[in-house]
Amino acid sequence: MINKIILNIPHSDDYTDYLFMTAALTNHRVVPMLNPTQEEIKRQSDVNTLVLRCINVHKLPDEEDRIVKADPMSKTICVMSKYYLEEGGEIDHHKAEMTRASIEHAIGNILMDPRNLREVFRQHLPLLWMKRKEIFANPQYFFAFSGRYGIGPDGYGEAPVGAILKAMEEDPKLFKVRLGGGCNCGEKPFLVDYEHVFDSAVSSTWLLYTWCPVCHSRREIRAWEFKRAYSCDYRITQILEENDKGQGLSNLSLFDVIEAI
Ligand SMILES: [Zn+2]
Repeated sequence: MINKIILNIPHSDDYTDYLFMTAALTNHRVVPMLNPTQEEIKRQSDVNTLVLRCINVHKLPDEEDRIVKADPMSKTICVMSKYYLEEGGEIDHHKAEMTRASIEHAIGNILMDPRNLREVFRQHLPLLWMKRKEIFANPQYFFAFSGRYGIGPDGYGEAPVGAILKAMEEDPKLFKVRLGGGCNCGEKPFLVDYEHVFDSAVSSTWLLYTWCPVCHSRREIRAWEFKRAYSCDYRITQILEENDKGQGLSNLSLFDVIEAI
């Protein structure tokens, strides 16, 4: 789970430094640092922080839409500064603005990646569950995207956090599992999430995430088969349809909801 991004900006040229420094001013989950020491980065980081090294390649981009390349795997974000820095030091302000917007967009995409949101959802489920009444009462919270997808008669759709919580509340039989040695207290833990993991073209397993509301233990369990996935997805979609007034997803992110509740 990533909930904070540090931009590690080694000085290249003043203008590119400035673009990186100002790229995510409105996003408090992003911390730009110019020429930071390892010690300074460490002080600002925790296990959920992604440190992106900001690279300036003085080249022209191959295509207009690839001014900025961000790669969470190699932990880099790269700009092609020849795009806005002209020979003689002149700056094309329009292109510079586009570059800044692209940096901001690339960072936002990493945080809002559905796989990341899904991890955020799993991580914060105890809090979300505790505050579910508040979430049910506020459509802005209810319809925040959870990173998960439900399935119904019309196929796949984005599952809002409120629909998952309500499905768990209304249908505990479906969303609780009895697992061999699963829980410390003997209660049936909640099934928080499930994923079909393909190890190869021919073999796959299920990964089940559970949480017990009584003893608070969490488990990740591998299973050969999990026949209930479709029913769970379907139930979430049904709840969504019952509550759907055509409003679409909330403009609040899951991060915003967790902060607000
Ligand atoms: Zn328990």
